[in-house]
Amino acid sequence: MLDAFDGLGPDERLLGETVRAFARKVIAPGAIERDETERFDRSLIGAMAELGLLAGPFPESVGGAGLSAAAWTIVVEEIAAADMAVAVSLCVHVLHQNPVVRWGTPEQKARWLPALQAGQALGAFALTEPGAGSDAAALRTRATPLGADGRELGADGRELGADGPPAAADARSDAAAYRLDGTKIWISNAPDAERYLVFATLDPSRGAAGITAFLVEKGTPGFRFGAHEKKMGIRACPAAELVFDGAVVPAANRLGGEGEGYRVALSALGDGRIAIAAACTGLARAALERAAAYLHERRAFGAEIAELQGLRFMIAEMAQQVATARALTRGAAATRDRGAPGAEVAAAASLAKWTASDAAMRVTTDAVQLFGGAGYSRETGVERLMRDAKGAQIYEGTNQVHRGIVADAILGRVPG
Ligand SMILES: Cc1cc2nc3c(=O)[nH]c(=O)nc-3n(C[C@H](O)[C@H](O)[C@H](O)COP(=O)(O)OP(=O)(O)OC[C@H]3O[C@@H](n4cnc5c(N)ncnc54)[C@H](O)[C@@H]3O)c2cc1C
Repeated sequence: MLDAFDGLGPDERLLGETVRAFARKVIAPGAIERDETERFDRSLIGAMAELGLLAGPFPESVGGAGLSAAAWTIVVEEIAAADMAVAVSLCVHVLHQNPVVRWGTPEQKARWLPALQAGQALGAFALTEPGAGSDAAALRTRATPLGADGRELGADGRELGADGPPAAADARSDAAAYRLDGTKIWISNAPDAERYLVFATLDPSRGAAGITAFLVEKGTPGFRFGAHEKKMGIRACPAAELVFDGAVVPAANRLGGEGEGYRVALSALGDGRIAIAAACTGLARAALERAAAYLHERRAFGAEIAELQGLRFMIAEMAQQVATARALTRGAAATRDRGAPGAEVAAAASLAKWTASDAAMRVTTDAVQLFGGAGYSRETGVERLMRDAKGAQIYEGTNQVHRGIVADAILGRVPG
């Protein structure tokens, strides 16, 4: 477990070696410059498309590479070890596709996935709002059903103001289109992404039961980008606000049924959290490798600083953190691969994401310490690793929320 390829079969080892060689050659060299200039390099998405990585964990039947969840963690760890920002862009792109693979109609899959797989379109996942982060079910972006003539449908499915008997209770799902109004914040890959999975509510008083998912294209009238998020880390992965002001989305772009959006979101987040755990493992490993090399390089008091026992213990503990993160990440992926019930996968994913992101924070902080002043300089790129780690304790569910999910699993409480 000290080596990323320990215990892998020949196919997985070849996959890991291929992605590592690619990441070191193509992704790692520009990482410091991209962070300094906050530059999203779209060509890297194209390069990952050529390797077949953009739909890595999806079945071949929908155009994916058919990788298991475990194999996908190997890929993501290698990309993140080269640049966490690129790994997060990739993970978000895959998170966008995941619900389309799970919930999409054959027509939606055929229409939506190929451009994403080829890297011609980049995907984003739009859940968070100014008043709804951890409490995602409190989101306020409104989806108003419209009839074929563009007029609003009432709660009973009739056009507002129409006379005659009420329509059937489910008539509203026959809406021809939906009008979206509201604001999303912190949406990774925006504004560069062309495709957005947007969660909106038909009725805020219904909580999670009102939430519905929509596939929205950049350029839709009434949909624009707000402020760019000025981030501490992963600065080469863009993030921005989305503003919906009367954006009309055809009903053919509703993913899942009305009111199923919260389940759509949760169904993808288990896989997403395992991938983020793998990215954190790669980030922590990168910091460990940099620090270990520096302990041989740097001399003090007539010897390599690798001779100092205090630092030797720190390196050992950093390796322990990386190995623990990797073990829990692969454990969660194995839980997913054996088809365990959703709640079990969710708890394993939470445990892995929380542990791995905390490990990344600790290992990258220790790496800065082991580098001394050089670690604090932006020139060496070690402080970047520490800044990149912090966000992972917050996005895809804060680590406090993940403690709650694990506690629910242990105490036998069904999440509400
Ligand atoms: C770099 C970055 C990228 C992101 N990318 C995306 C994206 O692509 N798409 C998207 O939709 N969102 C994205 N987000 C948003 C992210 O998902 C939210 O920031 C996160 O869910 C936390 O929500 P919040 O910021 O509103 O914090 P809050 O929910 O307001 O949390 C504030 C504090 O309260 C704690 N807290 C909240 N609820 C509980 C609880 N039940 N138990 C214990 N403690 C609790 C939190 O842990 C935190 O410490 C991103 C965020 C960041 C930082």
